[in-house]
Amino acid sequence: MIPLRLKVDADAVDPYVVRLRSFEGMPGPPGNFDYLDAALETADGENALFTGATGNLRVFGVDPSEVDGDIVFVVPSRKIAHRLIRANSQHNTLLITERCDQLCVMCSQPPKKHHVDMFPFFETAVFLAPENSTIGLSGGEPTLFKSELFEFLRETMERRRDIDFHILTNAQHFDRADLAKLRDLDLSRILWGVPVYSSVGAIHDHIVGKPGAFDRVRKNLSILCEAGAKIELRTVLIKPNAPGLLDLAKFVAVALPFIDTWAIMQLENIGYGRQNWDSLFFDSSQGFDLVGRALDFSISRGINTELYNFPLCTVPAEYRAFAPSTISDWKRAYVKGCADCSLRSKCGGFFEWHPRVHGYGRFGVA
Ligand code: SF4
Repeated sequence: MIPLRLKVDADAVDPYVVRLRSFEGMPGPPGNFDYLDAALETADGENALFTGATGNLRVFGVDPSEVDGDIVFVVPSRKIAHRLIRANSQHNTLLITERCDQLCVMCSQPPKKHHVDMFPFFETAVFLAPENSTIGLSGGEPTLFKSELFEFLRETMERRRDIDFHILTNAQHFDRADLAKLRDLDLSRILWGVPVYSSVGAIHDHIVGKPGAFDRVRKNLSILCEAGAKIELRTVLIKPNAPGLLDLAKFVAVALPFIDTWAIMQLENIGYGRQNWDSLFFDSSQGFDLVGRALDFSISRGINTELYNFPLCTVPAEYRAFAPSTISDWKRAYVKGCADCSLRSKCGGFFEWHPRVHGYGRFGVA
């Protein structure tokens, strides 16, 4: 797995954001060297010394070329640096908060009560991000800090007009008063990922652990639509909602035809997803007819529909075009049977933490 935390030793006392630059093979820092950069001074097999306006930063256990251009959040007192934005990755996500007002049965990142305001650090990180990046914002629930989030988006999008955002939100906290603020943003550069798990309010509410959540998300999806937002509807496929997937497809086609994408997602074996695995994991390789019928219906109604996190060989050949590789690079893994697979270059494989006995009855390319 690609490490997202580095062991460091820093001169500074307070936390800060800096971009690491190795300039390997170059005579010295080029013209675009920023005051928020730290340049590589020396490196041996064990550590690399970077220097910049914030003083010396010694990074342990990495080849400097692997972190060149990375934007890290250094916490000197804990001797760690979080790789907020990795220069060579398309999968950079900033965790806005660990608080959430829902408690989904399959939550991969169970909520916590405490909150640390990271917006100022994230702003700096986005200013330094590589050109034309798409940056994910997630939680917890980012819109619990809606005013700060809008301000963050306004600032960063104004200053970095080449950068797009993908924001995961339960959409519980919008109201009509937000329309003006939403319209102030360039909404063509933001994709809002919003979970809807069932067309039956009681089932959705049970899955997210919040009475009334379905009615609210429905209402607020309309507000997002009215504002002109791009929406990626997200449905994690689990035993409680799998039998109703076709009904959900019909609901999407009738009530939410304005969405950009409907993503049907396989379950991640971490957090509550791991705790509740046996009661939740739906073996779509054996029960693909439920998925196939929903997919056929939504595609026939012009809804762009995709399967996220489905190993390709668990999907019938005629549906594989709908299953892009979606698992982030740092948490993607393949199992023993993948070694000689002809589909591997297109397949997203498994989450690193997926059980070794992966649970798919149909596996491997026939
Ligand atoms: S065998 Fe592995 S690489 Fe091949 S399709 Fe299945 S999961 Fe993907």
